[in-house]
Amino acid sequence: MIRERVVTLRGMLLVFVLLTTLATLCNSLFVAYQVQRDALIHSAREANSAYAAKVASSIGEFLNSAHRHLSYSTAILSRHMNDPQVIRAEAVRLQAQDAYFNSIAIVDATGKVLQAYPDALQIVGTTLRSEGILQALKERRPLVSQAYESVAGNLVVFISQPIVSPSGEFLGVVGGSVYIVKQSMLHTIISSHFHRDGTFAFVADANRRLLYHPNQSRLGELLGRSATVDAALRGESGAQEIVNYRGIPMLAGYAPVADANWAVVAQQPRELTLVTLRELMTSMLIGIIPASLVGLVLIWAGAALISHPLQQLAKGADKLSAPETTAKLREVKTWYAEAAAIRQALLTGVQLLQQKLGRLSHEAQSDPLTGLANRRAMDSALEVLTRANLHYSVLALDIDYFKRVNDTYGHDAGDEALKRVAAILRQYSRGEDLACRSGGEEFVLLLPDTPLETARGIAERIRGAVEAAEVPRVGHLTISIGAASGVGEPEAILKAADECLYRAKQSGRNRVVAG
Ligand code: GH3
Ligand code: MG
Ligand code: MG
Repeated sequence: MIRERVVTLRGMLLVFVLLTTLATLCNSLFVAYQVQRDALIHSAREANSAYAAKVASSIGEFLNSAHRHLSYSTAILSRHMNDPQVIRAEAVRLQAQDAYFNSIAIVDATGKVLQAYPDALQIVGTTLRSEGILQALKERRPLVSQAYESVAGNLVVFISQPIVSPSGEFLGVVGGSVYIVKQSMLHTIISSHFHRDGTFAFVADANRRLLYHPNQSRLGELLGRSATVDAALRGESGAQEIVNYRGIPMLAGYAPVADANWAVVAQQPRELTLVTLRELMTSMLIGIIPASLVGLVLIWAGAALISHPLQQLAKGADKLSAPETTAKLREVKTWYAEAAAIRQALLTGVQLLQQKLGRLSHEAQSDPLTGLANRRAMDSALEVLTRANLHYSVLALDIDYFKRVNDTYGHDAGDEALKRVAAILRQYSRGEDLACRSGGEEFVLLLPDTPLETARGIAERIRGAVEAAEVPRVGHLTISIGAASGVGEPEAILKAADECLYRAKQSGRNRVVAG
């Protein structure tokens, strides 16, 4: 019988359950990852936004405080602009007192330096034309300049207050410069903030020039367009996901510095934020392994439990015509309804099939000479096998040189010989086989559910038994056998067996040919 390679129920169950479990697990992990990631990103953005606001407000406080110091001096200077000693004392005091300013300059309304400190600057008496001074002289209000290069060649911002006489006359400006690149109070304030997880803050002025950056070498650098810096310069504060100038995704918070038109940005690489999440997911996966292994065993056992009765039934159904099939089917433990129903249906089918075959073989004890089934009974049996779509083999047997036996020993001796051969046939047939006398000295043996190779073996034993048998009066006989097998189409199978028989005769008789 040709058997296709098919998947088993247990295999299918295993694959389906495993796939479903795997899909659910992947989905859960994916959703957990997404939710955690969004939460982490959200909180990192919030933290950076708060961090930027904190730094901005610290800078704002610093600038305010600086203005207050200068303002205190303007009150004195407004009354003593003509007293070099007072001016000198104020310049020294302002520079030395709190270390807010790296240098102090007091200029008159034309920009001429009345006093500067430290002395090393050597600018007293010169007229300053730097951006900070020019803007202060022009606007005559408290100012924080953008960054520019000072006379001494330092990158600075200039914080200034106008000096106005008690009568309201503009007398000049007192201001202090704060270094951007060199160590200054501004740096100390910003860098004193808490840094974690690669978070850092930078400060840029309205020209997008870096006033502060943890990477000292970038100080004074002009930034390109930046969504966060631009938003802060517009006076907005908040958080954004951006890609930095090196193409690295960043989570950034930003805030403006009030009164200075500066931007503070606090940011950290997005990847760094997610590192903890990766670690979390890895430990989750590792944690899941023991439970998964237990689940796997349970799935395997469950699949086996479900498929076992069906497997047993399938095995039993393989040999419907075998007499032991009923007992085998009854032994199968069908613990669920569907399997029980299939078992019942199979039992009924087997009983019907076996009753029919049995009845036929009984009815067909009608060959009066040999007691074997006759041709008509054989045809009926073939029909049953065909309807049940069962595979079977056919042996076609013919006694060699039988005419000679008749001629030599007489017809009666011939009949005796036929009986003897029939007895051997019966002896070698199994319970489910059907032995027929299909014609004068020709026999057919039907072997249900028997592969051709097995049929050949049976044929060979029958041939040997006939050859060995001592037939009364006649002595020894031989037979030739043709064997064929198949499903359905009994005529074709019989014909194939006859053709083999013919070949057996042709090739010398007393042999088995299967094909
Ligand atoms: P082969 O080896 O080719 O088969 O040679 P064979 O002589 O056996 O030839 P064949 O099979 O054609 O022989 C048929 C003979 O069988 C014819 C007939 O004499 C004999 N025969 C047929 N039916 C009976 C029967 O019922 N009784 C007896 N005694 N002989 C029969
Ligand atoms: Mg013949
Ligand atoms: Mg013959």
